Amino acid sequence: MDMRAGSTPAENGQTAFRDALIAAGLLIPTGVDGLYGRSGVFEDVVERFNDLITTWGGDDGADVMRFPPGVARHQFEQSGYLKSFPHLAGTVHAFKGDERAHQSLLRRLEEGEEWTDAQMATNVVLTPAACYPVYPTIAERGPLPADGALVDVYSYCFRHEPSLDPARMQLFRMREYVRAGTPEQVMAFRQSWVERGRVLMESLALPVAVDLANDPFFGRAGRMLAASQRDQGLKFELLIPIASAEQPTACLSFNYHQDHFGLLWDLRTPDGAVAHTACVGFGMERVALALFRHHGFDVKAWPAAVRAVLWG
Ligand code: ATP
Ligand code: ZN
Repeated sequence: MDMRAGSTPAENGQTAFRDALIAAGLLIPTGVDGLYGRSGVFEDVVERFNDLITTWGGDDGADVMRFPPGVARHQFEQSGYLKSFPHLAGTVHAFKGDERAHQSLLRRLEEGEEWTDAQMATNVVLTPAACYPVYPTIAERGPLPADGALVDVYSYCFRHEPSLDPARMQLFRMREYVRAGTPEQVMAFRQSWVERGRVLMESLALPVAVDLANDPFFGRAGRMLAASQRDQGLKFELLIPIASAEQPTACLSFNYHQDHFGLLWDLRTPDGAVAHTACVGFGMERVALALFRHHGFDVKAWPAAVRAVLWG
């Protein structure tokens, strides 16, 4: 275990768990914190869990959409993400120079100088949450039908939060159901998923707790936004101890955005009112890590009931 001076017990637990996952070959290190490859066993668990989500949510008739892990820059700019989370965003830059600029790039690379400042922004931004491309897409279709909209998305997401905690990755997958409609429709959706999410996770014999939460809004104004999000009960998380028993990790999130995205994208209900939205997000790697933490690294030795739920 890494017991560097100044590390808290929680940090030591995270480092020890990360080292064990790497030693077991479940995570493949790249030399960058929070950026890992995954083994076949790890991926199988993610895929089985993904199917389990569909088992619980598939009958609701969601519209399935799959986007690559990039959002259009114009949509990202309009989404308001940079107001709340400038510290987490990752933009894609690329070389746009001529041959001279190429020579200069190679020279700087050779000499170990900074070369990335010559890269130019592209029109692609890394997706910060799987639901981001959904709101402009459904708004583009005009007013919502009477029963609103329900969308199923699944994407790799990027957040610039390098960490030694294996449960805090920079690139990770999020499966989400996204609901848009009247406040009543959206609240009923979220409530049903808070309950379903708990039963679903308990079927995997994991110790879960559901609690109020807030997003990591940036800066001083962000602290007020976070407090108001909590006061209004807009975000709940389903927590499971992963690397540390004292600080359980959010594995599922249940978010009620009120009319935030409806106003941003002019998303309306049939009577012309601004639509409300909510989403439930499953952190795929975190759930896999919770399973490895609680049932061991050998999936064949997992409790029979858990194996039956995942592998039928
Ligand atoms: P946290 O509070 O731990 O930073 P969050 O509340 O910001 O997470 P959401 O924005 O609600 O997370 O994202 C939905 C889900 O995505 C979370 O419940 C979690 O399971 C997963 N997730 C979020 N950030 C990460 C990350 N850095 N690495 C792996 N999974 C993550
Ligand atoms: Zn979402």
